[in-house]
Amino acid sequence: RRKPSRKGSMADVPKSLLEAIADLEKLFIVDQDKLKQITDHFIGELEKGLDHEGANIPMNPTWVMGFPTGDEQGTFLALDMGGTNLRVCEIMLPEEKGEFDIIQSKYRMPEELKTGNAEELWEYVADCLQQFIEYHHEDEDLGALPLGFTFSYPATQDYIDHGVLQRWTKGFDIDGVEGHDVVEQFEAVLKKRNLPITVAALVNDTIGTLIASAYTDPAMKIGCIFGTGCNSAYMENCGSIPKLKHLNLPEDTPMAINCEYGAFDNEHVVLPRTPYDVTIDENSPRPGQQAFEKMIAGLYLGEIFRLVLVDLHENKNLIFEKQDISKLKKPYTLDASFLSLIEEDPFENLSETRDLFESMLNIQATKPECELARRLAELIGTRAARLSACGVAAICRKKNIESCHVGADGSVFNKYPHFKARGAQALREILDWPKGKRDPIVLSSSEDGSGVGAALIAALTIKRVKQGNT
Ligand code: BGC
Ligand code: MG
Repeated sequence: RRKPSRKGSMADVPKSLLEAIADLEKLFIVDQDKLKQITDHFIGELEKGLDHEGANIPMNPTWVMGFPTGDEQGTFLALDMGGTNLRVCEIMLPEEKGEFDIIQSKYRMPEELKTGNAEELWEYVADCLQQFIEYHHEDEDLGALPLGFTFSYPATQDYIDHGVLQRWTKGFDIDGVEGHDVVEQFEAVLKKRNLPITVAALVNDTIGTLIASAYTDPAMKIGCIFGTGCNSAYMENCGSIPKLKHLNLPEDTPMAINCEYGAFDNEHVVLPRTPYDVTIDENSPRPGQQAFEKMIAGLYLGEIFRLVLVDLHENKNLIFEKQDISKLKKPYTLDASFLSLIEEDPFENLSETRDLFESMLNIQATKPECELARRLAELIGTRAARLSACGVAAICRKKNIESCHVGADGSVFNKYPHFKARGAQALREILDWPKGKRDPIVLSSSEDGSGVGAALIAALTIKRVKQGNT
């Protein structure tokens, strides 16, 4: 497989399409100045979230109050309810410091669940958990197994084993959960089935990733998810969380904060939104929410791409002349992997891209149309990576972190071509690192960390309760 030479291949693209590409570049390219401006605004928004309830970025205290020491022991269940998959894990933390064994099963979150009701949701989750236990522990008497529940949505937590769902994100729209304690709802279903399980901790995926990464690498200061949704977590000092002041917690006690910064710029002050981003928001089940996330997360990348192509066909009459685009007109018909494949097309004539349009969409794309699609995928993927970097840079600047490791997980981070390199480049531009030196802040993959993280947090919690120090 040869590397395509992009320069030569634009030669046969007609002027009208070149102009369309230039327009898209104007819409989607985020330059260094803009990145810095976004980051500056971001820092203030993080601070507002720590200051009071009801700010744009929730900055949720999670009651994870320290990193694991490596001495955690025992067997724990972890349940990871994400936007796409449901994972059940059993994690054994042996005596050896920093080690663990894990067995796990993955289930798909059925599409229809995402718009169903609370009961269907919890019954499904309990089904998966029950299946897992019956398969791995047939006829064993388990005692009461503690479970770390990774719940990747914003929740208000007064205790580590409770959490009231603030609002659904990532296209979920399940009745009867928002405003309720998800642990209570879930445990009620477990109880009905006589499952010997107690939820020891409710854990956001970013928090799980942070804790799991720090377990094996003490330089880890931030946990990030770039997947179906996007978000970060880091350790704050209680003294820097004005909204917790009334609790009189010791100032230097650590408190892990789930930023929920997918909600950054819901007021539309600074992000360079395109008309396509506006359409995505308006057609989503929660308009006006998750403005940042809707520009960068995996759930939306394919949809942005699709909306641009439909616009170029229907309103501008520039592409797919005389083609039936009915498949392309179906919302959310393309996911981020479609863009990944286009960006990875190794052939000079973009034959793989052409085949994709044919097989997935029933569209015969011309070579120039494939060129446009390729450039568009690059623009959308690059914008996502560059904007993502603003959130990480904002946390680092807020905390005066000059060097650290950042544990990252999620399908976009792990699978989207060039995402890491593009994000690293943006960090260099935002933080003005000297050229030619090693980057002081580096993101690295903490694949599937949130399960282990949830188990570790369950272990930490049980230890804390035993010490009488809740
Ligand atoms: C959720 C966060 C989550 C992120 C990544 C967002 O939509 O609100 O809780 O961490 O997605 O999964
Ligand atoms: Mg996940």
